[in-house]
Amino acid sequence: MSDSLLAALTAAVGPAHVLSDPELRAGYERDWTGRWRGDALAVVRPADTAQVSAVLTACAAHDAVIVPQGGNTGLVGGGVPRPGGRQVVLSSARLNRVGEVARASAQLSAGAGVTLATAQRAARDAGLELGLDLAARDSATLGGLAACDAGGLRALRHGTARRQVAGLEAVLADGSVIRRMSGLLKDNAGYDLTGLLVGSEGTLGVITAVRWSLIARRDARAVALVALDSIAEAVTLMRTLRPALPSLEVCELMGRTGIRLTLAHLGEASPLPDCAAAVLLECAATSDPLDELATALDAAGAGERAVVAADASGRERLLRLREAHTDAVAAAGVPHKLDVGIPLERLAEFADRLDGVVADAAPGSRLVVWGHLGDGNLHVNVLGPAPGEDAVDARVLELAVACGGTVSAEHGIGVHKVAALRLSRSAAELHAMRAVKRALDPTGILNPGVGLDPRDGVTDVIPATGGCDIS
Ligand SMILES: Cc1cc2nc3c(=O)[nH]c(=O)nc-3n(C[C@H](O)[C@H](O)[C@H](O)COP(=O)(O)OP(=O)(O)OC[C@H]3O[C@@H](n4cnc5c(N)ncnc54)[C@H](O)[C@@H]3O)c2cc1C
Repeated sequence: MSDSLLAALTAAVGPAHVLSDPELRAGYERDWTGRWRGDALAVVRPADTAQVSAVLTACAAHDAVIVPQGGNTGLVGGGVPRPGGRQVVLSSARLNRVGEVARASAQLSAGAGVTLATAQRAARDAGLELGLDLAARDSATLGGLAACDAGGLRALRHGTARRQVAGLEAVLADGSVIRRMSGLLKDNAGYDLTGLLVGSEGTLGVITAVRWSLIARRDARAVALVALDSIAEAVTLMRTLRPALPSLEVCELMGRTGIRLTLAHLGEASPLPDCAAAVLLECAATSDPLDELATALDAAGAGERAVVAADASGRERLLRLREAHTDAVAAAGVPHKLDVGIPLERLAEFADRLDGVVADAAPGSRLVVWGHLGDGNLHVNVLGPAPGEDAVDARVLELAVACGGTVSAEHGIGVHKVAALRLSRSAAELHAMRAVKRALDPTGILNPGVGLDPRDGVTDVIPATGGCDIS
């Protein structure tokens, strides 16, 4: 089977773009966090939609499964193969053509493999910008961002990828192509297949191109970092500032452990006195928002505990402290990463109960918390337990749900949270999701084991292992 499949894949994309040598495959087989690892039969790198279609058709004919992969910056193990060497990784790296920026409709068309940073540059060159930004911008791709319904730093103002994807092109499991790239603002003819594919994590189709909505450039920016005594105080400050600051674009939270870890990682001195928590705020407008920010901070009684930066290097220094958290925690070990969404009203309660839950489930571990405060989205990172020891993961997700939240805010379900999905979705919702999966991918060749529990009868592939290091 392998030989004839490899021959069919070679015919589809050319010999230079079928990687079966273990050394060449290695970078595609391990996820960014180091927690998930598998081995692929091959990595294929199609150059256009027709080649993607040919790859899917070949895999379907050989009963082989496909793992779509973009920049491999996902944090839930959904973009790397599972063990067993039976899966084909389909890399979007060569779907990297930046197309037209339609100024009148403020939309950018691009291949799914175009990185976020490249798309941001193209948008700026056209006098516009993307409303989505995150620290993995140099590697994360538009296809991956759409497939995960990524959020990032600016979702507070501009929403997640779901709100920004105006259309897409995708290849379905049977090799057929669906294309909604016209960018029509109004087009409600039938089901919204674009919306269905956003957030589907490579389980319903391979996204080959996207049409991304852009926003007007707001180049006047001001950033503040505020020292606080608790996460509860941070939530109160955010709720006070939000209505007072129409130009607020970024509102991020950092806890003491993460601040210390990140400063040590960067080799930088703290811009703030020692504090239990800090909130990072960025305002963006067409004219200087510094006065508006300073006035709002004073009115909230936080002016004296804030450092404010209006010049580019000062802003970058403050933003770097927040952005480098993910790198800093990864440098300290293989973290258990839980990306939860909590209603703002109960976020302080969640934070209060979290210490006890983590200490109980993973004694001696190190808890590092930060997140997109304005969105009620916390990144709970636990350092200490081995990758396969997932008791703490389950307990944190249960706590999030007990506080009225969700098990996944922006990273997706991946292989990490398949068992936890039922905590956030009803039996009726899971039934509907399974029906969609069965209809679009009846033989389960697209990213099996991701998103939905493989034991539910949708697919017949390797059961999820609880997200351990599986090499
Ligand atoms: C330092 C760092 C910071 C981050 N910050 C944030 C953040 O602030 N907010 C946030 O939301 N995420 C964040 N992430 C996570 C990550 O960047 C996003 O999940 C991103 O959307 C992944 O894009 P990717 O191209 O790397 O996708 P990959 O990691 O390659 O894949 C992710 C998932 O999408 C699927 N997929 C990829 N491409 C396609 C395609 N063309 N068609 C169909 N399915 C596809 C894969 O199968 C997989 O399930 C961060 C990651 C890092 C490393």
